[in-house]
Amino acid sequence: MKVLHVAAECVPLVKVGGLGDVVGALPKILLGLGVDVSLAIPFYKMIDRTKLNFLPKTELVKLVFDHESFEVIVWQTTLPGAMVAVFLFETGRFLTQGPYDSVGAVDGGGHEDIRFSFFCAAVATWLKDKAFDVIHCHDKHTSLLCKEVKSKKLRVKSVLTIHNLGNKGSDETGLPVGIEFADEITTVSPQYAQEIQTPEFGYGLEGALRQKARQGKLVGILNGLDEDFWNPIKDGQFSLNLKLGDGEIEKFKTVNKDNVFEKLGLGRDMSEPLFVFIGRLTLQKGSDILVSAWQEYAKTQKGKLVVLGVGEEEYVNGLRRLESQENDGKTEKKVVFWEKFDEQLAHELYAGADFFLMPSRFEPCGLTQMIAMRYGAIPTVRDVGGLHDSVSDAQTGLVFAKSETEDLLLAMNRAIGLYQTEEFENFRKRIVKLDWAWEKSAKEYLSLYSNLYSS
Ligand code: ADP
Repeated sequence: MKVLHVAAECVPLVKVGGLGDVVGALPKILLGLGVDVSLAIPFYKMIDRTKLNFLPKTELVKLVFDHESFEVIVWQTTLPGAMVAVFLFETGRFLTQGPYDSVGAVDGGGHEDIRFSFFCAAVATWLKDKAFDVIHCHDKHTSLLCKEVKSKKLRVKSVLTIHNLGNKGSDETGLPVGIEFADEITTVSPQYAQEIQTPEFGYGLEGALRQKARQGKLVGILNGLDEDFWNPIKDGQFSLNLKLGDGEIEKFKTVNKDNVFEKLGLGRDMSEPLFVFIGRLTLQKGSDILVSAWQEYAKTQKGKLVVLGVGEEEYVNGLRRLESQENDGKTEKKVVFWEKFDEQLAHELYAGADFFLMPSRFEPCGLTQMIAMRYGAIPTVRDVGGLHDSVSDAQTGLVFAKSETEDLLLAMNRAIGLYQTEEFENFRKRIVKLDWAWEKSAKEYLSLYSNLYSS
């Protein structure tokens, strides 16, 4: 069975968020399960050509888009470290530095919607003489392809995975069109598959999604982690790796927490709990709640807060204000806001954190809570979407009901309570052992492809 994944991002070539992690990991596991799997993404300028080996022969795709003729060059390489074929579409004047308008990765190339519509049209044209059985489209950027293959009457089945319905795109080119035309819809956790059928999380598409669910065409499959990339035992990106055995987790956490304190100027008092947030600074992730809850918490309790993230101005400003309010410039810092995309620091923070905060308003799956658990940081999360499916209260994390200041504050107070007991160590021992491998979920995708293939 030949399957082509089509997406806007793919680790390690280009990553903005969790979508890139998923698209870079799932195909590798599917390959191991015997699927002939390939990937197609735009050839952004930020993709480092010098680090890739290309097949000598490129393909030329000719197409008419919006009454104009275009030529697209398709380069073929393989995913670094795996034998997954990657087709990079060099889309000429529609090509930008990186994928999205919103993260400032654009230097010309036009509006995101038009760029991805062009990419989908180019992939559909290229697919005409290819023998793929299934195309697997990801999120709004490649939704239009589900319609394109139908209107071109190609003999290929389509799967659309919804990674984030909050970013649904336009009715003509985004998730609405994908939901209408895809043969099968998946989303990234069982709980989110339920939630998106309700007005609270459905963004007006709940009716269409309920109908798909009734037809048996909507399923939630929990994302896994790339366990090579997120591996505390052989991760080269922080001070001390994790060893198996008694007392090793405590040692691992202490050395790495010490590293974070020193690197970020948090002082030497290691008895203070370290709370960490890593993620996009958006309404979804509740970064505003983080600020208000911290202001309350810090009035009575000890602790340090590190926030690593980039995002919307409103939340960035809120965090900058918090940082300057909480630090007097004379003594050691209490709050650090690191406004960058910084993979190295992310690894160091997962390894050093005591608690990992996620006050998300909605969370389709969330990978950061899984990474946190793997690195021994206790997830302190709202009970929503994939967080509901991956963290259980008082067992593997601290779970709170609502995305509100009061709820997060209570959870942080529970966290400091736990921190002062012996149970804290037991917690850490439990969570680092959990299995987040992709295999189970990849098998679910495989059976979905097989059903489509034989239908
Ligand atoms: P999203 O909703 O953004 O997809 P996920 O939890 O699924 O959220 O995945 C986010 C991914 O991006 C994780 O791998 C996380 O470590 C990474 N990440 C987010 N922000 C940053 C940042 N500022 N620096 C480094 N890594 C980041």
